[in-house]
Amino acid sequence: MSDVIRFDILTLFPEMFVGTLQHGVLGRARAAGLVDVATHDIRSWSTDRNKSVDDYAFGGGSGMVMKPEPLSAAIESCRQEHGWVVLMTPQGGVLNHAMALELRRKSQLVIICGRYEGVDERVRTQLVDEQISIGDYVLTGGELPALVLIETISRLVPGVVGGHNATVNESHSNSLLEHPHFTRPREFRGCRVPEVLLSGDHLAIRRWRHLESLRRTLLARPDLLKRRGLESVESEWLWNEEPVAMSTFDGCQPSV
Ligand code: SAM
Repeated sequence: MSDVIRFDILTLFPEMFVGTLQHGVLGRARAAGLVDVATHDIRSWSTDRNKSVDDYAFGGGSGMVMKPEPLSAAIESCRQEHGWVVLMTPQGGVLNHAMALELRRKSQLVIICGRYEGVDERVRTQLVDEQISIGDYVLTGGELPALVLIETISRLVPGVVGGHNATVNESHSNSLLEHPHFTRPREFRGCRVPEVLLSGDHLAIRRWRHLESLRRTLLARPDLLKRRGLESVESEWLWNEEPVAMSTFDGCQPSV
């Protein structure tokens, strides 16, 4: 696994990335040299007089298709020796934590942002290593999906998100949803912070958080729990403690 991951984004709208890449987690990660991101305008590889990047679809239909020549030249010019070429598309595998961990191992990702009806099929079959979707819906372009992908992967780079192991217990990192969080005040709109969190008993807090994490997952995403399974001690906790329906799943203990 390389220390610094490099993202090369191929897009028709490089200006869409400017603000996002300069601020927040990504801005800090870039400034610290933990991730390297470059945007490239596919149009600069177009060789015709009008710098065209799209054309009519053979077979008819109203939508345009991204031409293969500029895009393939852009990919070939940006891809490094062990580079991995990703096409953002609603037809790809839906991004999840396991995929992000796998992609984090690459030294370079060349990310293609589609527009119009998408890219010419020959680019997909000949030059793309992986197709990724950010969900079962359709956006106008691949720029927002590319940003989602880059931020998801970058958060897994050690040092990018503050605190040792900061991403280890987050939702999806262990196939569970994370436990609820509380801050001051101790009471807000008739709801008190659960007593255990104020007790200073770290073992009891850890156990409570794990139980709440299991309960949340069971109620909101039973599919995740089904896939992960339960250890016997976890089943005991879940079913022997207060009934699941009465849990603090909504993050609230009524004030007395
Ligand atoms: N005609 C395509 C189809 O039905 O599969 C949709 C094209 S979409 C209007 C234009 C571009 O937006 C795609 O090429 C892709 O790069 C991007 N895109 C749209 N939805 C996406 C999603 N859910 N995940 C990733 N990329 C998406």
